[in-house]
Amino acid sequence: MIPVAIDDDVNTLTDSGDDNAATAPDRLRLTEIFHSIQGEADAVGWPTVFIRLTGCPLRCTWCDTTYSFHGGQWWTLPGILDEVARHGARHVCVTGGEPLAQKRCLALLAALCDAGYEVSLETSGALDISAVDVRVRKVMDLKAPGSGEEARNLWTNIEHLLAHDQVKFVLRDRADYDWAVAKLREHDLAGRCQVLFSPVHDQLPPPVLAQWLLDDRLPVRLQVQLHKLLWGNQPGR
Ligand code: SF4
Repeated sequence: MIPVAIDDDVNTLTDSGDDNAATAPDRLRLTEIFHSIQGEADAVGWPTVFIRLTGCPLRCTWCDTTYSFHGGQWWTLPGILDEVARHGARHVCVTGGEPLAQKRCLALLAALCDAGYEVSLETSGALDISAVDVRVRKVMDLKAPGSGEEARNLWTNIEHLLAHDQVKFVLRDRADYDWAVAKLREHDLAGRCQVLFSPVHDQLPPPVLAQWLLDDRLPVRLQVQLHKLLWGNQPGR
């Protein structure tokens, strides 16, 4: 399948994601599809096909995928499924940007599950997750103050988390850590699903965060980004 390049800006997409929907009912705008090693969350280490949707309504200070904000190419749903199948992996991760900013992401997730893949979704926590297929493992961020996007957290999302989902806090400093610990306790997050604490790359040393977790005996998992150890911060790896 040959994707079609277009120039529109999807960063103003609302949750409806209905740009050009009348002429492209089953298309999604993608920045890239690639085969790599999952570097994060519960499926860390598995060979995985990543589907990176274009566009995000947030602007986290430490974002490492700013190249996904603009551009992209339209793909049809069957075209995406064909490309995923070509890589021969069992795991598929739908990521962004913010994938749920495109409404048709929900149909993509369901189609991937129907095709028999182990499917995960990486989402910012700012958009409603209630309609995501229950077979999908959601990896949902809660944005700490250091991200600059704390006000975008959609706290009602917490009630839609399932036991196989994960909540991820990306932490820049001690203030972020203290905020995350308070939210962990306030919402009993560890009683709902796995909770991941991850240091901002090159800003909070992983051993420092590791010691804080041990000192406080928190029921959370330390996450470092395996793909950055393997490949650095290259797009498409
Ligand atoms: S939500 Fe994700 S893609 Fe969007 S700005 Fe934040 S880190 Fe970047």
